[in-house]
Amino acid sequence: MASSTVAKTHCAPCGKLTGIFTCRGCAKDFCTRHVSEHRQMLGKQMDEVILEHDQLRQKLDEFMADPRVHPLMIKVDEWERESIDKIRQAASAARQQLSNRIRDTNKEIGDLKLLSQELTKARDEDDFVETDLTTWIEKLEKLYKDFNAPDTIQILQDDNEKPFISKITISARESIEIFELSAGCTRIEDNGQVMVHNRSANHGSVCGKGQYSSGQHKFRFEFEQFSPQNWAFFGIIPKSSIIKDSSWNTPTVYGWTTNWNVTRNGTQEGVTVATRSDINKNDIFELLMDCDRRTIRLTCVKMPTTATHQLDVDIALCPFPWKIFLGLQSSVGDRIRIL
Ligand SMILES: [Zn+2]
Ligand SMILES: [Zn+2]
Repeated sequence: MASSTVAKTHCAPCGKLTGIFTCRGCAKDFCTRHVSEHRQMLGKQMDEVILEHDQLRQKLDEFMADPRVHPLMIKVDEWERESIDKIRQAASAARQQLSNRIRDTNKEIGDLKLLSQELTKARDEDDFVETDLTTWIEKLEKLYKDFNAPDTIQILQDDNEKPFISKITISARESIEIFELSAGCTRIEDNGQVMVHNRSANHGSVCGKGQYSSGQHKFRFEFEQFSPQNWAFFGIIPKSSIIKDSSWNTPTVYGWTTNWNVTRNGTQEGVTVATRSDINKNDIFELLMDCDRRTIRLTCVKMPTTATHQLDVDIALCPFPWKIFLGLQSSVGDRIRIL
C-alpha cells in the first residue's frame, strides 16, 4: 500500500492540521485559505511602506523647493522671534520705568517755576540788565540739560558673562563619528570629538564609536595641537579587539604612524627609527576605510601626492566590523579633532 511520507503541519492562523504552504519570509505554515490571506496582509503592509516612502519623498521635495519650511530653519525663526520678543519686553519695561522717572523730576519743575516768576517780574517791572540775561540763559541751559540727561537717571547695559540674547551659529560636521574609548595616556573631550594626550613620556590610544562592515567611509582629523618631534597613529581595529595604549602594536590593528611606519595585524614593519613626522598644528589627515575592497588609505591633506598610503586588510586577521583607531605618543596637550 502506497503511503504519503509528507508530514502535515498546523496552519498558523487556524491551527488546522492542513498546513501545506510554508512562507519563506516568516517560516510559518498555512492552509490553502490562509496562504492567500497571508499574501494579502503582506500586500497591505507593502502599500503602507510605499505610502510612507511617498510622503517622505514629498517632504524632501518641499525642503528642496523651499528650505524655509525645514524644521531646523523653523528653529532659527523661533530663535529670532523669541530674541526680538525678549528685546521688546526689556525695552518696554525700561520705557515704563523711564516715563515714571521723567514725570517725577520735581526738582527741575520747582526750579523752572521759580525762574518763570523771576522772568515775569523782571519784564513787568522792566528791571533787568545784561548780567541778569546771562544768568537766566545759564539757568535755562542747565535746566534743559538736567531734563535731557538727568544725573539721577542712567541707562545701564548688562555686561554679564551670560548674554541676554545668545547668538546662534550653524555647525555642519563632515561625519557623525566620535571617539568612544581610550587607553593609556589619552582622554576624550568635547563630546567625543577630540582626543588629548594627558600624561608625558607614554602612549595612548582611542577608538571610534562607529562600526563599519560595508561601503566606503571617509574620516578627517585635524591636529589642533602637536609637538613636532612626535608622531601619531591612524588606522583601524576590529570591534572584537581590545585597545591597548601602544596603538602601533595593538593586536589585529592595521594602520600607519604619521612618519609612515606600517602596522599590519598589530606588527610594525620597516621601522624607520627617529624619523620626524613633519606635522604642524592644523594639519589634516584623511582616513579612507573601504570595507568593500578591504583596504584603508591615509592621506596627509597638505601633500596628497607624496603622502598617500594604502593598505590591504586581511579580514581573517582583522574581521568586520572595523572601528577607527588612533594613537598619540609622548607630549601632554597634543590634540586631534574629528572633523
Ligand atoms: Zn510569511
Ligand atoms: Zn488555515
